[in-house]
Amino acid sequence: MTVNVGVIGAGMIGADHIRRLSTVVTGARVTAVTDIDADRAAVVAAGAGARALDTGQEVIGAADVDAVLVTSWGPAHAESVLGAIAAGKPVFCEKPLATTAEDCLRIIDAETAHGRRLVQVGFMRRYDAGYRAMKEVIDSGEIGDPLMVHCVHRNPAVPERYHSEMATHDTAVHEIDTVRWLLDDEIVSAQVLTPRRTRHRFEHLQDPQIMLFETAGGARVDVEVFVNCQYGYDIQCEAVGETGTVRLPDPSGPVVRTAGRQGSAVLQDWKDRFAAAYDVEIQEWVDAVAADTAAGPSSWDGYAAAVICDANVEALHTGRIVATGLKDRPDFYA
Ligand code: NAD
Repeated sequence: MTVNVGVIGAGMIGADHIRRLSTVVTGARVTAVTDIDADRAAVVAAGAGARALDTGQEVIGAADVDAVLVTSWGPAHAESVLGAIAAGKPVFCEKPLATTAEDCLRIIDAETAHGRRLVQVGFMRRYDAGYRAMKEVIDSGEIGDPLMVHCVHRNPAVPERYHSEMATHDTAVHEIDTVRWLLDDEIVSAQVLTPRRTRHRFEHLQDPQIMLFETAGGARVDVEVFVNCQYGYDIQCEAVGETGTVRLPDPSGPVVRTAGRQGSAVLQDWKDRFAAAYDVEIQEWVDAVAADTAAGPSSWDGYAAAVICDANVEALHTGRIVATGLKDRPDFYA
């Protein structure tokens, strides 16, 4: 079976997923594309041999669309996801699932009422080979119960429009989802420490930030977000258990020795770091749709990320330890 995909939002990641669906992933083709920028939709659709449609609702309702990919701006996600659920069509939604916890709960209510999972959220680190290998070690019990996780998320630089709350919503959100998944545990509180700020930043930005999370099971998680580190895109993660540790492998590259030094390149762009993970993520989504099942990060994971991010932003602004106040996970998402 070939899955016919309709895409809502043909910007940077939308166009990249359309290329992926057209040339990398097997078992899918893009049949319809929309964007509020109609010219952009037309160009991207033509490149994929698809039709450009005027609205997201037209894409969702199209007879030649089996499943929907939502890659518009965050504030527009909820409407498209709710529309796909109402039409009974599987939907992959790039993060965030929605920009408020209330909208995430509306999606959860609609999906639950539908009776089976239709929604997958685009937390792609769960598809990275290194993180998957880490999870296998943790799940095997080889390092005992995990007690601590140390994470680092560094970017070379960010533009002026990046503000302090984006360190949570756009950057640490990936660690928040990954740690919940790695530990199979829930984050119950958040705290943010604000070190001396780097001079390599725009004036309004608190950079770096150290985020401290506690899980329901009592594990402690620290996340260093430093988005103007200058030297490269650097993702690190180490879980410390009762009898050992497991560390995310660095991307491999040739080790060069010259001029009295040895070393390998540090990647500069997140798209290069996680390119393979995106391929696996979209392939597994297509496979699940074709098999009439759902897998991967769920609406519940999208809701949890929204609630934890809100608590973390409150912690940043107040300096306090903030309880996340997550609801209990319904059996539907067990
Ligand atoms: P972008 O600005 O390049 O593209 C967004 C596109 O959506 C634009 O072309 C815009 O015109 C269109 N759009 C906005 N509202 C719309 C609507 N109501 N209907 C149709 N089209 C609409 O942004 P981007 O970088 O491609 O990011 C898109 C989404 O993907 C964001 O939510 C972002 O957080 C997410 N994202 C996730 C990852 C990841 O690592 N998982 C990486 C990049 C982006």
